Amino acid sequence: MRIDILTLFPEMCETVMSESIIGRARKAGKVEIVCTNIRDFSGNKHNKVDDTPYGGGMGMIMAADPIYNCYKSLYNEDEPKPHLIYMSPKGKKFNQEKAVELSKLDRVVLLCGHYEGIDQRVIDEIVDEEISIGDFVLTGGELPALTVADAVCRMLPGVLSEDICFEEESHFAGVLEYPQYTRPAVWHDIPVPEVLISGNHAKINDWRKIQSVVLTKELRPDMYAKLEFSEKDKKFFKKHEIEI
Ligand code: SAM
Repeated sequence: MRIDILTLFPEMCETVMSESIIGRARKAGKVEIVCTNIRDFSGNKHNKVDDTPYGGGMGMIMAADPIYNCYKSLYNEDEPKPHLIYMSPKGKKFNQEKAVELSKLDRVVLLCGHYEGIDQRVIDEIVDEEISIGDFVLTGGELPALTVADAVCRMLPGVLSEDICFEEESHFAGVLEYPQYTRPAVWHDIPVPEVLISGNHAKINDWRKIQSVVLTKELRPDMYAKLEFSEKDKKFFKKHEIEI
């Protein structure tokens, strides 16, 4: 998969995307990430990419042409148009399901706005969808784009050591992850739950399943309300005296 990030701050994106798991995945060729500076497409000698808003108002607006030309430089006319996402507080809220959906595409382009946003005409002309990372406003689309790129990359085959890593994680199967513990077995006089050192994998799996559902019910009633329990699940929770 290839992910392009169109930004006024390519070094910021490049730095984050070169570290840790994603950095290693790039080196191993599991994913290609290209950060392109929109300013290189300003088309004027002052490298100006923004201007005052028509109708008046505060701040500056990113002009249409540099963004349009930057995007068009990424592919040839005989190639399919890469899926373009504008990171925007007006967009649909990002979630794990969206990360999985995007990870199945060959190419995704993430467009970062700055200042007071970008000219609506270029959004209407080239953007396929708008994604928000939450109901708050940041100074730029870089952190949202990096968030989306990170979440998408870790869904790609071979990026995490085992696919099971994310299949059991919070949000993947509609529930939160069970609590995790590591050595030492007793810390500040607090032992880890006994079942986890029992070596009985069936019991450990049962404990984890119960913890996931109980935690989801407690912390995320909105997620819990969407869970569908099979007859087998109902019997399982009844047997363990857990009310679902
Ligand atoms: N004036 C815009 C508004 O009220 O909708 C906000 C512009 S914001 C200061 C600048 C840029 O940051 C946006 O163009 C967008 O790319 C990015 N941004 C800010 N908050 C975001 C969020 N919650 N999710 C995704 N992108 C965001």
